Amino acid sequence: MSVIIAIDIGGTQLRVSIYPQDSIVPINVQRAPTHGMEDGAYDRLTALIDSVWPKEPVDAISVAAPGPVEPKTGIIFSTPNIKEWVNFPLGEKLNSRFGVPVFLNNDAKMAAVGEWRYGAGKGHHDVLYLTIGTGIGGGVILDDHLLQGYRSLAAELGHVTVLPDGPLCSCEQRGHLEAVASGSGIANYVRERLAAGEKSALTPEMAASAKEIAQAARQGDKLAIKAFTRAGQFLGRAVADFLHVFNPSIVIFGGGVSQSSDLFFGPMRTTMVNSVMDPIYVKDLVITTAQLNDDAGLLGALAQAEVMLAKR
Ligand SMILES: [Zn+2]
Repeated sequence: MSVIIAIDIGGTQLRVSIYPQDSIVPINVQRAPTHGMEDGAYDRLTALIDSVWPKEPVDAISVAAPGPVEPKTGIIFSTPNIKEWVNFPLGEKLNSRFGVPVFLNNDAKMAAVGEWRYGAGKGHHDVLYLTIGTGIGGGVILDDHLLQGYRSLAAELGHVTVLPDGPLCSCEQRGHLEAVASGSGIANYVRERLAAGEKSALTPEMAASAKEIAQAARQGDKLAIKAFTRAGQFLGRAVADFLHVFNPSIVIFGGGVSQSSDLFFGPMRTTMVNSVMDPIYVKDLVITTAQLNDDAGLLGALAQAEVMLAKR
């Protein structure tokens, strides 16, 4: 029996998971912090892979990495949490170090593939996946194919302009969906309103996290409710645009902020329905939350490796 090694490079954790053939139940999972006192992230990653290297033959290593990456060459252009990885040839390095095929893709795209093959999107052929956490990422499956683009940079769904001249995005452009509707976008808005003198049970320190703001919203805090409603409305407008462009049969919301879906799904849905050019776009459209949570990236990496190996 052979195995596939799936790797998820998160902002705080590196995770390595070993899956036997035709199974999504790992036989071994190990983690290490992405940032440590010594060595680089690459050294910690290879040490982690060494520590779990199985007796069984390894068919491939498949990596879900944050930030823009080029799957064809295995290069990570840049990644927000590992500053030393700029134009970093992770695929080539892992391939020459471990001697097996290495596949690499963006973590949001991998999570989309994971949800499509093994999670909330099972049975669908046209899937729009949005992950809403500190940032906003996405992945699109059309006709059972992951949408990649010329340099595999397609489907940066968080970086569409929803508020011209709006707040600064993590990408340094202004008014992107991520800047207004992500966890940090919601927190920034609350802090801005507090600074403007708006009344709320929240203090600027509490407003640092979307989780605390969600808690306040559930206790009836008007500013907190407004912040989630506003984010939901921006999201709804963007999703309507995505429906026009991709025409999916299901929209899946993943990421930490999506766990507060009760707060923004209502406004999101209303705005989305009101913003489509024709009601046919929302007819039978499934809107749901992700099922695989933290494992979506790992399982997506596994699914992608299976697809790539089958092509060989
Ligand atoms: Zn942006």
